Amino acid sequence: MQTCTTCCFVLKTTDHGESDKIITCFCRDRGKIAGIAKGAKRSKQRFVNKLEPFTKLNIVYSQPRKGTLLFFSEAELVQAYLPLRQFYERYLAASFITELILKFTRENDSDEGIFALLDWAFSTLTTEEKPLKVVALFHVRFMGLLGYQPELKRCFTCGQPVRNGQTYRLQPSGGAITCSTCTPYSRGYDEAQISVQTLKFLHLAQEVQLGRLNRLKMPASAIQQTIETLHRFSLHLLQQDITGWKGLKSLFPLLHDR
Ligand SMILES: [Zn+2]
Repeated sequence: MQTCTTCCFVLKTTDHGESDKIITCFCRDRGKIAGIAKGAKRSKQRFVNKLEPFTKLNIVYSQPRKGTLLFFSEAELVQAYLPLRQFYERYLAASFITELILKFTRENDSDEGIFALLDWAFSTLTTEEKPLKVVALFHVRFMGLLGYQPELKRCFTCGQPVRNGQTYRLQPSGGAITCSTCTPYSRGYDEAQISVQTLKFLHLAQEVQLGRLNRLKMPASAIQQTIETLHRFSLHLLQQDITGWKGLKSLFPLLHDR
């Protein structure tokens, strides 16, 4: 069997039998992959402390002739990202991000942009004081990379550019916003509202270079509106619950502007 090495982030680990683990990860050259790490629960040398969620690894694997699971034979730790497992807020944020990757991507569908964004998100989460801000920015960029970038400059219905004095909603069915004149609240729509200020942040977050993304100073209200809006949009696209949502939402009361 030919062996290959790739750099990846561990997304999920599950015990398999008495001594093995099944690992799902997102790697630079193959996208999402799943493999079996034989003896991972016993072998102290090859895998200990490496096959944890959110770690960045160089992994050696081979492709068996039968079956779809790869065979992971070795792992070298590149970044442990320990704070993401040590601190509750960071853990909830990283778990939500990981779940989005697991649910929105297909196996063996490589995407350098998603790999770089995940790298940015996990490394930023180790130090950022507002983990929810990282989730908001990640989600905006992730939707763009998936081809679901919402059009945020004008109302989809009347075509008017975004203007002060209006509030907006992202249409749940797809990437467009409508203004409060076209979709008055009285019609009973319950989509999360987005202020003009939040729309400006979202637009910046779509445009700015990845390395400068965290320099955006987002107010707490913009962070919460972004997360709520994109959660709704993602639910519509996935047609299934995002289990990390409840935990993430529990962090909203901790959000405030300093
Ligand atoms: Zn309108």
